[in-house]
Amino acid sequence: MSRSAKPGRAVRVLLGAVAALAVAASPVSAQTIIRDTEIEGILREWSDPVFEAMGLVPDDVTLLLLSDDSVNAFATRGQIIGLHTGLILETRNPNQLLGVMAHEAGHVRNRHTIRDGAQMAGRQPMIVSMALGALAMAAGATGAGAALLGSSTYFGAIGSLTYLQSQEGEADITAARGLERAGVSGRGLIEFFERLRTEDVFAGAAAHPYLRSHPLTRDRIENLRRPVSGMSHYDQVDSPERMAQHAIVVAKMRAFLGAPAVTLREYPETDTSLPARYARAIAWYKAGEMALAVAQTDALIAEQPDNPYFWELKGQILFEGGRPIDAVPAHRRSVELAPDAPLLRINLGHALIETGDPENLDLAVAELRRATRRDGDNPLAWRLLSQVYATQGKEGEARLASAEYSYAVGRRDEAMQFALRARDMLPRGSAEWLRAMDIVLAAGATAEQLQDLDRRQQADRPAALN
Ligand SMILES: [Zn+2]
Repeated sequence: MSRSAKPGRAVRVLLGAVAALAVAASPVSAQTIIRDTEIEGILREWSDPVFEAMGLVPDDVTLLLLSDDSVNAFATRGQIIGLHTGLILETRNPNQLLGVMAHEAGHVRNRHTIRDGAQMAGRQPMIVSMALGALAMAAGATGAGAALLGSSTYFGAIGSLTYLQSQEGEADITAARGLERAGVSGRGLIEFFERLRTEDVFAGAAAHPYLRSHPLTRDRIENLRRPVSGMSHYDQVDSPERMAQHAIVVAKMRAFLGAPAVTLREYPETDTSLPARYARAIAWYKAGEMALAVAQTDALIAEQPDNPYFWELKGQILFEGGRPIDAVPAHRRSVELAPDAPLLRINLGHALIETGDPENLDLAVAELRRATRRDGDNPLAWRLLSQVYATQGKEGEARLASAEYSYAVGRRDEAMQFALRARDMLPRGSAEWLRAMDIVLAAGATAEQLQDLDRRQQADRPAALN
């Protein structure tokens, strides 16, 4: 299993798209982008070779996981592919999920820009990304965790837009060819489409939003089946390793997003498979049974001592159980095992802060800064950095981190205000001062505001330097 985590490229790309995109006025249920190093690593390991075979640059494609029970997926500007957790849980094997991802990548490859209008341009929805585990806990919280849970109507709007039939056919064929070139069967895509159609027939009008956004006719499936069934990799089946990865993705999502009682029914004690034991450990943790959760996670660690995600879970259980000092070594181990994963460093930084030991603050800053270098849009990392700097009396740095936080969640005006204040407090010309200026500009300062800034700068600066 790949343990390499792709750094999140989510939100900065999104902000560019958001400026130009519309948001439907009608409210939809809250959606949150969920982040999980293990799940992202697995999905990217499967999809990147297919994206490449389709002529895309994998690093330019942003994969977003949205916590939403409905079965839907979409592709939009900025090479963004969005997958609802509901769709992932509906797939039975990696090949089906990869087929859907390839289809969405087909829309990206063919530049199928869904019509999104511009009437709402300028409105800035709050886009929030959260660790899968943190989301699970914040959903029932009222404090700082809940404050991070925004409701974004933005993706609800995109997911309700409809591609043209001709675009569907194009995306299907591009996907089929890409899968074949990458040595993957297109059978899963057909299987998945057939299941959705069958369920749709029984459920009456459009059971799944996916069928509204991606019109699916009998003809379309046949037009896909003919070429795909003749391809040389048609009979290729998923490897046992990939099936195991899929089972872990499903178990982890179900356990973190579902009610513990449901998870314990879906994964009864009689099921001693690794995904089932993993799911139960998470369910006990969510149920507040910390001792049981730690014991079951320790058993997983004993079996795979070098699995960074078992250590991550252990750290999380201890942290949420009010034992940050005990959580630190577990999170530190996860970082040692997957040093390129920013989300794991954020966990460690957070635990270090919560130990209450002032000596740990500099260590926390080091971890959080390393995380933001790889994942510059992580709201939690910036919020924590702002908090630490304020505690340390570093007011300029604290304002700058607040500006980064506001920018990362799409509050541009607020980002600009924080960045302007940071700029006045930071040493002129320092890297931080320059970064504050970048944010002011990126946040879309108006010509008038920039002129005003220029005047202030000139007034501040000795004439010789002008
Ligand atoms: Zn489509």
